[in-house]
Amino acid sequence: MLNLPEGCAFAPRCEKCMKVCLKYEPKEFSTEDGHKVSCWLYDSRANNNTEVKNNDKQ
Ligand code: SF4
Repeated sequence: MLNLPEGCAFAPRCEKCMKVCLKYEPKEFSTEDGHKVSCWLYDSRANNNTEVKNNDKQ
């Protein structure tokens, strides 16, 4: 069985990782130019989440 970690799969190596990224898989958001992205940075509420340092991502 797969044993995937919680949250965004890119969190361990993402420079912009926030607390929400460690817990929840990002939803799909539409960008202004019509692209689809799965990243919490595109959620307007993300500004309320604190960025985490790389050594906090364990
Ligand atoms: S959701 Fe976006 S900001 Fe968060 S870890 Fe994934 S790629 Fe980085």
